[in-house]
Amino acid sequence: MAETYDILIIGGGPGGYVAAIRAAQLGLRTAVVEREHLGGICLNWGCIPTKALLRSAEIFHYAEHAKDYGLNIEKPGFDIGAVVKRSRGVSAQLNGGVGMLLKKNKVDVIWGEARINGAPKGGVVEVVVGDASKPVVEPQNPVPKTSLGHGSYKARNVIVATGARPRVLPGIEPDGDRIWTYFEAMKPKSMPKSLIVMGSGAIGIEFASFYRTMGAEVTVVELLPQILPVEDAEIAALARKQFEKQGMKILSDAKVAKVTKTGDGVEVTVEQGGASQVLKAERLISAVGVQGNTEGLGLEAAGVTIERGIIKVDPYGKTNVPGIYAIGDVAGAPMLAHKAEHEGTICVEKIKGLDAHPMIRTQIPGCTYCQPQVASVGLTEAKAKESGREVKIGRFKFIGNGKAIALGEPEGMVKTVFDAKTGELLGAHMVGAEVTELIQGFVIAMGLETTEEELMHAVFPHPTLSETMHESVLDAYGRVIHM
Ligand SMILES: Cc1cc2nc3c(=O)[nH]c(=O)nc-3n(C[C@H](O)[C@H](O)[C@H](O)COP(=O)(O)OP(=O)(O)OC[C@H]3O[C@@H](n4cnc5c(N)ncnc54)[C@H](O)[C@@H]3O)c2cc1C
Repeated sequence: MAETYDILIIGGGPGGYVAAIRAAQLGLRTAVVEREHLGGICLNWGCIPTKALLRSAEIFHYAEHAKDYGLNIEKPGFDIGAVVKRSRGVSAQLNGGVGMLLKKNKVDVIWGEARINGAPKGGVVEVVVGDASKPVVEPQNPVPKTSLGHGSYKARNVIVATGARPRVLPGIEPDGDRIWTYFEAMKPKSMPKSLIVMGSGAIGIEFASFYRTMGAEVTVVELLPQILPVEDAEIAALARKQFEKQGMKILSDAKVAKVTKTGDGVEVTVEQGGASQVLKAERLISAVGVQGNTEGLGLEAAGVTIERGIIKVDPYGKTNVPGIYAIGDVAGAPMLAHKAEHEGTICVEKIKGLDAHPMIRTQIPGCTYCQPQVASVGLTEAKAKESGREVKIGRFKFIGNGKAIALGEPEGMVKTVFDAKTGELLGAHMVGAEVTELIQGFVIAMGLETTEEELMHAVFPHPTLSETMHESVLDAYGRVIHM
């Protein structure tokens, strides 16, 4: 008789594979079912390949500005095929690494499309693994030796970690040719001369930044008044100013009303302030968010509650059905890889009966790897005020930081939001060079409930960009030094 797994995880993305490794560490017999690629969207079509593309763009940018650093680089250029090949290679390397990690931890990998077969019976969930609905996409998986095939599997606990896919607006369906999602934008066959990006969240802005830096005419159309809508308004405005300085066109409070494919591109009707205009470009990237992969999993028949396309879970990933859990993008916002990974760990530790800590969604950092970078954690100034608190705000601009000047990166700002009564750090918001690496300092501070006094007492190495964090805290308390 087939063994009953302690935990079977549907989906081998960052949520699923990290949960699997943690489960194996805790001595639980574990399997992962994956239909397409280990590492999920993150490693194959999201976090990692975009960062590889953006790194090429960054180096190209510096080469173009070599003179500013006293260097001579004659006419820098690029081969977009080689840029894409490098990005795909980085994904393939990490994708293979996940296979090795699962093998090392003795996690079974089952290839195929999984579905839960009805409600759990006698404390056991049955999962049927059928034909993959999609062909295996590149990068090809180096299938670990432990890999199993299609069939029926039993588990005491099932974790749904099936991720998300691009949201599609009716009438603006991606066609893989002129209307792109992130899949096509990640692998352009040639460099478009012009493109329109619909949506200015992290995904839209990262692609806008990549293509603009590589020389395309880029127009971003955002429905809301603010680009990067989840960020602090002041930080988003500073980022916007920089993008516009780089030649990016940004239309906010503007709606893409209609997209018509033409012989050589797209015509996009944009409505803004009661007027309408038609923009022409070679390509349109639809970046209007993602939606959870909840369909075809047998969740409804198993009795699992799904609300607006998201599986409803408690802070440990528990659904309303005992034995069925959900983590990562399919379990709701923020749809970020590190949130998925952390939820995976918490969920498994709870299943094991450990004293797991609940997920605190307000302490999850968010990063956008555009040029300049944007990073944040916690409440924006507006949200902190909305919550009825009296706040103290600190600001420090990169122009006052020696390292930023030495790097030739004087544009940027760190903003900190404190509770005026208690000194609690409510939020930190940054724009500028390397801020995606800096934000973790504030994440740890928030997690440890560090006081404003302790932050001011901390010694920051000189010269580093991190000193801008210290100065921002000092500024909130009227003690800023270099401004
Ligand atoms: C362009 C882009 C850039 C991004 N950049 C970042 C970033 O810089 N930082 C960040 O934190 N996040 C980023 N994200 C978001 C990040 O990719 C996701 O939050 C993360 O991948 C979610 O992990 P997950 O494990 O929940 O799901 P996924 O990574 O989507 O993995 C789910 C897996 O489940 C599999 N699956 C689905 N259904 C089934 C089934 N029925 N049977 C078997 N297998 C199934 C899928 O094939 C997939 O491999 C980015 C996303 C995109 C699109």
